Amino acid sequence: MKCPFCGFDDTQVIDSRVNEEGDSIRRRRRCQGCNKRFTTYETVELRMPQLVKSNGSREEFDRDKLRIGFARALHKRPVSAELVDEAIEHVVQKVLALGEREIPSRQVGEMVMNELRKLDKVAYIRFASVYRSFQDVDDFRDAIKDLDK
Ligand SMILES: [Zn+2]
Repeated sequence: MKCPFCGFDDTQVIDSRVNEEGDSIRRRRRCQGCNKRFTTYETVELRMPQLVKSNGSREEFDRDKLRIGFARALHKRPVSAELVDEAIEHVVQKVLALGEREIPSRQVGEMVMNELRKLDKVAYIRFASVYRSFQDVDDFRDAIKDLDK
């Protein structure tokens, strides 16, 4: 890490310690160039990425929208709420594990499809047939809403 005082890019870590909660590490560093000391903090960044839609626009990842998508695909299907919650959690964990700032909403759609395939064949086919032609979670959500009327 660069020294904030002189810009020298070789600094030595002289002390590392984990905070009490165990979720951040504080490092004391010493610049090899000017010998000044400074502190850095290392924490985990767990932030849901922005979704890039097929038209290029961005939107926040929204767990509720995901839930609505699942609910529509699983409308009147014999699948417990608990299993749906698990499936949603799988998708969220997979998205987090990518560690990206932005991902195509299409990629989330594929994850949803994989989860539905495991949950219920009818819901999967319902989702896949509609979603594949839209390739966007929002478009799908609207279309499936009309289907179930
Ligand atoms: Zn320095």
